[in-house]
Amino acid sequence: MNNTKLKNRDLDVLWHPCTQMKDHETLPLIPIKKAHGIYLEDFDGNAYIDAISSWWVNLFGHTNSYINEKIKEQLDTLEHVILAGFTHEQVVRLSERLVKLSPEGLNKCFYADNGSSAVEVALKMSYHAHKNSAKEKKLFVSLTNSYHGETIGALSVGDVKLYKDTYEPLLIRSIQTPVPKDMSIEAAKEAAAEFEKLCREKSEEISAIILEPLVQGAGSMHMYHKEFLVLVRKICDRYDIHLIADEVMVGFGRTGAMFACESANITPDFLVLSKGLTGGYLPLSVVLTTNEIYAKFYCDYNEHKAFLHSHSYTGNALACAAANATLDIFERDNVIEKNRETAKYMGSKLSKFKELKNVASIRQTGMICVVELKGYEPKDRIGLKVYQYGLDNGVLLRPLGDVVYFMPPYIITKEECDKMMDTAYEAIKLL
Ligand SMILES: *Cc1c(COP(=O)(O)O)cnc(C)c1O
Repeated sequence: MNNTKLKNRDLDVLWHPCTQMKDHETLPLIPIKKAHGIYLEDFDGNAYIDAISSWWVNLFGHTNSYINEKIKEQLDTLEHVILAGFTHEQVVRLSERLVKLSPEGLNKCFYADNGSSAVEVALKMSYHAHKNSAKEKKLFVSLTNSYHGETIGALSVGDVKLYKDTYEPLLIRSIQTPVPKDMSIEAAKEAAAEFEKLCREKSEEISAIILEPLVQGAGSMHMYHKEFLVLVRKICDRYDIHLIADEVMVGFGRTGAMFACESANITPDFLVLSKGLTGGYLPLSVVLTTNEIYAKFYCDYNEHKAFLHSHSYTGNALACAAANATLDIFERDNVIEKNRETAKYMGSKLSKFKELKNVASIRQTGMICVVELKGYEPKDRIGLKVYQYGLDNGVLLRPLGDVVYFMPPYIITKEECDKMMDTAYEAIKLL
């Protein structure tokens, strides 16, 4: 087996996500033979630092020995069972732990198997909860520049044109209110005032606002002040609107706290989690909600009142075992505390990028560091150049347009941070 052979077999039969497949006539695919820790290794023995945690999912490294062991144990016990009418130890234990770890007041867990599906669950639950209280509220609000996934409902509440424009005629109705324009508290207050204005006009129709707390991932890692969350929570209460916190990317320690909502000390009506939930091992997602919402569905059997939503792999036992193992590591290794050190170190290296003349700005929230470039057009495909330089030098960087970012697994060492960030520095300098 070698790289070339596998590449050709792949292109014969595969269609890759988020890819113009014709690009692969010139841009080689990279077959990965194995991975360990923060390194991916190809068939020629080249190793790449996974600086983007394999699309933001990996927390404690690839083929982590502890998570491996826990999945193997589960594999010989119970791989999967229908979750309607049945239950199992891993899903109960995981739910107990999530309820305990998440903001006060979130008491019930509903599972799905990816971030987009969990967003769909939250949207449907929100609409349905109002409906069960005899209120017809069918409008969702989201923030400008937001991303919530790519199934039709999730895409409808997103605002990244690249993914959305083509499908516009298929989407459900949603409106966008401005995201705070920068990380200042003034911008947070301004944006909250805009949201309140919208609520004054349309609150009767609005079911929920969905937002990515603190960092908008696919929206070029745009960041804002936590005060916005505090204010939005108050406005939602005032106007009987649900707050859906999509922490698919920011959850599990990315922003510095276990959950980003914690930094604003708020409890959303729905907390949506996926990506880091299984440490980057297996597809799993969950929506946590309050007893109050749950109670609106709880009554003698009535086909219109029960939440009759399901996915085949809901609460998969292997995925739940991976999630429990991931939470064990958080507890055992004092991860949130340790990440503070790592984040501080990355931050100190980040400031150096400001010296470069093609750098417009830098920003950081916890374990996410961003370098925004300036002076380029989309057709320059500047991100692709940084990507290729990274690969040639042993680092997987995957810029979002002209935004280069670092979101490594938490186990990265200082020396590996040096390699990751110095390589990006060189790439940007050479552009
Ligand atoms: C990735 C992401 C999603 C979608 O999750 P998938 O598992 O890719 O469907 C939703 N919301 C946010 C904030 C995300 O980053």
